[in-house]
Amino acid sequence: MTAIPALADLQARYAALQGRGLKLDMTRGKPSPEQLDLSEGLVTLPGNRDHRTETGEDARNYGGVQGLAEVRALFAAVLGAPPERIVVGNNSSLALMHDCIAYALLKGVPGSARPWSKEEEIRFLCPVPGYDRHFALCETYGIGMVPVPMTAEGPDMDVVEREARDPRVRGMWAVPQYSNPGGETYSDATVSRLARMETGAPDFRLFWDNAYALHHLTERRPVLRNILEACAEAGNPDRAIVFASTSKVTLAGAGLAMLASSEANVRWYLANAGKRSIGPDKLNQLRHIRFLRDQTGIDALMDGHRRLLAPKFRAVTETLARHLGGTGVARWSEPEGGYFVLLEVPEGCATRVVTLAAACGLALTPAGATHPYGRDPQDRLLRLAPSYPKLAEVEAAAEVVATCVLLAAEESREA
Ligand code: PLP
Repeated sequence: MTAIPALADLQARYAALQGRGLKLDMTRGKPSPEQLDLSEGLVTLPGNRDHRTETGEDARNYGGVQGLAEVRALFAAVLGAPPERIVVGNNSSLALMHDCIAYALLKGVPGSARPWSKEEEIRFLCPVPGYDRHFALCETYGIGMVPVPMTAEGPDMDVVEREARDPRVRGMWAVPQYSNPGGETYSDATVSRLARMETGAPDFRLFWDNAYALHHLTERRPVLRNILEACAEAGNPDRAIVFASTSKVTLAGAGLAMLASSEANVRWYLANAGKRSIGPDKLNQLRHIRFLRDQTGIDALMDGHRRLLAPKFRAVTETLARHLGGTGVARWSEPEGGYFVLLEVPEGCATRVVTLAAACGLALTPAGATHPYGRDPQDRLLRLAPSYPKLAEVEAAAEVVATCVLLAAEESREA
């Protein structure tokens, strides 16, 4: 064990950090300006009166609610579905998830006896720690949240299988690859069990948010079992809806979002989406095709992101290891992809760490954001987002975090 410095020493170290007048932000998983610059070429495309799609449509005009065929073909491998079962919308996959929930509440999904909102009570299974915006969506629409602990292989499937038998449980969130915030990738066994488990609700839907499908931080490229195929094989073809986007491939505010599912679900989605809009921004879709071109183009771009991101993640984990390694005070993830490092501090200390960091000029995601209703009952988990600040700032921020963790731990031990 490495000895923890005395409280007075930690307070002196903390005061010195405060004296540096830092102004750092590790709250959200936003791409940095340098990452956005990788796609600067996108902004001026298609240009030169290039506005015809592969099938000869004029991309400037109305229509084409399912999205361009060439974009659907380009992302078929990522989504794990043929182009005809893919929809490409505007930016923000979160918006697609929102719309699916809104349509389900208002009208039901294929297989529903009635709209979800007409049920006495509905609930979603929520792997925890999880993504705060998934939880916020449930909260805003009065969908109850059933927490499910995460394991290294994905959600604890014994708990999922037990809870899914409850007919009030209508859906589940899943970030199957490099999950937000723990970085776990679901094992094949987890995917298979999710596909074939019994559900109490006949119209149960798995919201398969594959936001980090392409976002590797190492040379390793895990291949996730195809959830749509697994569901079809298990006789539950309508169970999963897969979501992805280019928010962290091209431009976070001007990318493309997409979903893929069964024929029935895609028909259902398009019938509803077709009432909401006459069609998506097809010029942006064309722009993406001209810019990305093919899988090789996507891979090269993602390598560019990795070169910018990997050193920042290393800076966080190495700094934490230097200050906290062997103290037994904290544990942290060493993710192989995605956008976050998950830090676990002694029980009751996470909120205090955020407060101490803020007074040092470092903004962190509020403690509790990793849990439904923003409440971490043990006040232990913190999500660190190293993508946006510059490398030197990330190093400084990680040092602040480490010092605040030690200080909060010592304060609570002495209290
Ligand atoms: N899903 C997860 C798990 C995320 O972490 C994020 C962004 O941080 C999103 C979805 C948002 O995706 P989009 O920009 O496509 O709405």
